[in-house]
Amino acid sequence: QGGALLGPKEVRELAERLGVSPTKKLGQNFVIDPNTVRKIVRLAGVESGDRVIEVGPGLGSLTLGITEVGARVTAVEIDHRLAAELPQTARAIQPEIFADEQDPRLRVIRSDALEITAAQLADAAPERLVANLPYNVSVPILMHLLELIPELRGGLVMVQAEVGHRIAADPGSKEYGSPSAKAAWYGEWRIAGTVSRRIFWPVPGVDSVLVSYERRSIPLGSDAERELTFEIVNAAFAQRRKMLRQALQPVLGPLDQAVATLEAAGVAPTDRAEQLSIRDYLAVARAHGNGHK
Ligand code: SAM
Repeated sequence: QGGALLGPKEVRELAERLGVSPTKKLGQNFVIDPNTVRKIVRLAGVESGDRVIEVGPGLGSLTLGITEVGARVTAVEIDHRLAAELPQTARAIQPEIFADEQDPRLRVIRSDALEITAAQLADAAPERLVANLPYNVSVPILMHLLELIPELRGGLVMVQAEVGHRIAADPGSKEYGSPSAKAAWYGEWRIAGTVSRRIFWPVPGVDSVLVSYERRSIPLGSDAERELTFEIVNAAFAQRRKMLRQALQPVLGPLDQAVATLEAAGVAPTDRAEQLSIRDYLAVARAHGNGHK
């Protein structure tokens, strides 16, 4: 099984040849199962001709699943050995797809994904994100890309189960936190599946889930509104056990002003952070912006 994808044998041989011993610091757990790769690409909604951004291609397990269906990949990898080897791996495993040098299906950017800029993606903004994200920085990377690339319509990421459930959580649930509220600014998130630890090498100490998203067709608000809304979300969750009339004083001002702004936004001042949807937070930001300060 596998055909033109990397299986357990290929992953190990490649790692050995490159002298790569996977590091925990960079969240290096490589997928060794072609079935899982194909499932991810299918659930991500990737189709022939799509422009996809992949963060952390590693040895190329997922990258080759994306190019296999005829999509183009911009891959952002922090580890220079892995970034340097990826084009060779692609040509060796999928020679028919990578034969045409005039039509590059793969572009590798060696960079920390948290530091890539719009200019680096300018000529062809990706429309879908597919990634097996490094676990310790998965939420900041997601937020950075969603903000940086408005063209990103949707995608699917593999993350640590706990983080995935937090991203997809609804208001009022125990997992709901600032990542859930901020992610909801951009679109709809849902758990699309779970994956066994055995599909990775090395086997990680935590479970993973697949989280898919579709961006809103109309943005909730402007960039300036988003910034203020996120500031309010941060303040609310920094003191999540307190009532909002208390927790939001650093942003909204003293008690009477905070209460007036919350009421103008149609939010009960006695509510707590986890009760508000992102639309409620936006309403608070707008009320604050309108002079209920
Ligand atoms: N996509 C590969 C796969 O599924 O087999 C590898 C996934 S592995 C969980 C995470 C990858 O992200 C590693 O290749 C690691 O070097 C890379 N990485 C870690 N931190 C990064 C960062 N800040 N920016 C870009 N890549 C990063």
